[in-house]
Amino acid sequence: MATLRKALVIGAGIGGLTAAAGLLRQGIDTEVYEARPNPDRLLSGGGFMLWHNAVLALRRIGLDEAVAAGSVHMRYHEFRSDTGRRLARWHLDGPTERIGAPACALRRSHLHRVLTDAVGADRVRLGARCTGYTEDADGVTAHFADGSTAHGDVLIGADGLRSVVRGTLRHGFETPPRYAGYTAWQAITRLPGEDVVPTGTFFNLWGRGGLRFLYCRLNAEEVYWDAITSDRAAAAIDTVNRDRTAALAEAYRDWPEPVGQIIRSTEEAAVLPVNIFDRPPAGGWSRGRMVLIGDAAHPMTLNLSQGAGQAIESAVALAAVLGRADTDDLPRTLRAFEESRRARTADMVTTSWRIGTLGLAHNRVLCRLRDLFMVAFFDSVARSQSYALMMDDRLERGPVLPVAARPPT
Ligand SMILES: Cc1cc2nc3c(=O)[nH]c(=O)nc-3n(C[C@H](O)[C@H](O)[C@H](O)COP(=O)(O)OP(=O)(O)OC[C@H]3O[C@@H](n4cnc5c(N)ncnc54)[C@H](O)[C@@H]3O)c2cc1C
Repeated sequence: MATLRKALVIGAGIGGLTAAAGLLRQGIDTEVYEARPNPDRLLSGGGFMLWHNAVLALRRIGLDEAVAAGSVHMRYHEFRSDTGRRLARWHLDGPTERIGAPACALRRSHLHRVLTDAVGADRVRLGARCTGYTEDADGVTAHFADGSTAHGDVLIGADGLRSVVRGTLRHGFETPPRYAGYTAWQAITRLPGEDVVPTGTFFNLWGRGGLRFLYCRLNAEEVYWDAITSDRAAAAIDTVNRDRTAALAEAYRDWPEPVGQIIRSTEEAAVLPVNIFDRPPAGGWSRGRMVLIGDAAHPMTLNLSQGAGQAIESAVALAAVLGRADTDDLPRTLRAFEESRRARTADMVTTSWRIGTLGLAHNRVLCRLRDLFMVAFFDSVARSQSYALMMDDRLERGPVLPVAARPPT
């Protein structure tokens, strides 16, 4: 049996770095190639949630404690209307104890730092924009925009939503990602005060007119928020004559505090609008010695807070199978990996998309019905369905990946 000698990872996002950390841990020589020249630019994107399943997956590569140490452990997930009425409240302490891992709110930069430290900055080549790859009997070669190449036994495409590797796999033909019809304006603001935003609750506000607002505390000083606006709502948001913060404060002017306070406390440059896309679930993530993970394979909307969670799960599962793979049998191993991940990620994509469409309701009556639906079902049916979707007994039983006696040189 020929074991893997060298892995090439395209993209130093969460998926790529997690896969590299998992491979290096097992002694497989791994290099990461990242298009952006400046590491700081990798850290844009504020804060986010990592649910229990993502923390369990990180445990398999020994990184859960470092990630959790820089995070807030969430105790409640609370749903409200735009009048401030509580629609549902999930208590997370019980699941945290049962599952044995918390749900965390954290800065994206913290997760990146933990992953980059695990990989080693010298193994991440910045400013390396992959333009495609070729394969021969001897292995796989990645090609870069500056004319350079890199050769390895396997190539992992972790280059995100508009993956070049995915395009190459499909011989240059790919349908565009599917636009969800809404934008997330995300930011982190400095806003101390437990009375303003209490630590440990993820607030999820659903409003009329195609508006939503999510927020949670990241630490004693900072709050992360996302204003989600349908295209119809966004058409009335005037960012020509106003700053983004002023325009959003105007759009949310009738919402209960602390929404206005959070928006007004935010520095203009911190607000980053991101149009939300996914891809309808489809297979075809691997061929020969190439495989896709994360948003390159299974991008999803943000409504379940699972895009990064699934990127982490896929990366760890892939590292586990590659750690014991026979290089001569790599195509079959990669197809089996894809098979093991396809149904789970497809469920996430589909459910996340459906939740997003609920948020597009403008009509007062429809929104009222949605509120009633949430009151009736969100504490019971929706909560248990969400946990059934989120948890996978392979995660709870998934063994910790072995640490190589000698790390790769
Ligand atoms: C507003 C918003 C909020 C979100 N909140 C959450 C949340 O709370 N929880 C959660 O789990 N998920 C969340 N997500 C989803 C999550 O951000 C993504 O699913 C996750 O970042 C995907 O990771 P990735 O590594 O696959 O891709 P990316 O993070 O996109 O990383 C891809 C990397 O590849 C690089 N790259 C691209 N092209 C090339 C190339 N040709 N050559 C070399 N490098 C290249 C990019 O520069 C980038 O660094 C959210 C997403 C959005 C938009």
